Amino acid sequence: MRILTICLFVLFCAACGDRPSAAKAPSVLDGVLASGVVRIGVKADSPPFGVERNGVRYGFDIDIAQALARRLGVEPEFVSVTSAERIPKLVAGEVHLVVASMTQTRARERQVDFSVAYFEDGPAILTKCDSGIEGYVALGGRRVGVAAGSTTAAALATVAPEAMLVEVPAIKDLLPALEAGTVEAVASDYLILLGLAKASGHADAYAVPGGRIVSEPYGIALPQDQSAWRDAVNSALMAMWEDGEWARICDAWFGPASNLPADIRFALPTIPR
Ligand code: GLU
Repeated sequence: MRILTICLFVLFCAACGDRPSAAKAPSVLDGVLASGVVRIGVKADSPPFGVERNGVRYGFDIDIAQALARRLGVEPEFVSVTSAERIPKLVAGEVHLVVASMTQTRARERQVDFSVAYFEDGPAILTKCDSGIEGYVALGGRRVGVAAGSTTAAALATVAPEAMLVEVPAIKDLLPALEAGTVEAVASDYLILLGLAKASGHADAYAVPGGRIVSEPYGIALPQDQSAWRDAVNSALMAMWEDGEWARICDAWFGPASNLPADIRFALPTIPR
């Protein structure tokens, strides 16, 4: 009797089809299109990618996010995220995507999905001009500030394993730590460091010795298993690349007449229509 009951239960479960854990998540694309609003996680403290000052947001990522929303035909609603908050807020469904100087890594791929790369930059260090630190080798035994939840610490470990890393909560805390003397150098992505120095109003007081440790692709982070949503985002990015909008945005932030002229050699990977 007991065996019969178990057999019947197994047959019943099989007839029910999908197990509850395999239930399909609601489509993020459908939800966004139906509501007409896309919630986008962006930085508020990472010039020139995402800045918020006096309630106004600006930066390369803000422009990319705005162009993306327009191409999807919806209104963007921006939500500030620190480096450490990007994945938790996305996984919790508080934002539909994250456009926040975010490196696509294989470790992060285990928790979230990524669009095609839409930019690239890489970790570097910033010091005070008079620090005497001329490159990564000099970091041995010195305190170096890094923002929590960023790829920076892992990259630094490859070139300066003897550096003593001091984690600060967010990118906005890097320069204050350097100014307070808590650390002797700070590390983040190269263009962010230049942006922070510029925004401080006394960029001449700082140096970025050593260049980028490595080049890392920036991706737009998306929830896992939302293929239609990722396709829509990728299509919009590729269209921006093809019709020149990406180049106009890049020129506005990094071109010769911009605040932060830089040699950008990135090419967005496109696939045929
Ligand atoms: N691109 C790096 C990262 O995603 C550092 C910059 C940042 O944290 O925003 O971790």
